[in-house]
Amino acid sequence: MSGMKRTLTVRYTDFRQCPNCEGRGDDGASWRPIPCRRCKGRGRLVTAVEVEDSKTGKLPQESYEFTATGEVYLIDFDLEDGEELEVVKPE
Ligand SMILES: [Zn+2]
Repeated sequence: MSGMKRTLTVRYTDFRQCPNCEGRGDDGASWRPIPCRRCKGRGRLVTAVEVEDSKTGKLPQESYEFTATGEVYLIDFDLEDGEELEVVKPE
């Protein structure tokens, strides 16, 4: 194998406002506000994700799961011997 690198590119395609902090990202305290635990300070939750495989194109929705904070978990994803995988996540 040539050690070709395979890339999975994650994109967040839809969001909703975090109901816990109402989009502020923190508890709204005027002095030293605490980041919201639910959205990790982002103020919004991920509701849709797209994952593109450099080898096979867009992954079907049933091949991954994701959390509201944007963690993506692949289901039964197989790499070939010697294949390296890089996951590119949005900031
Ligand atoms: Zn929040």
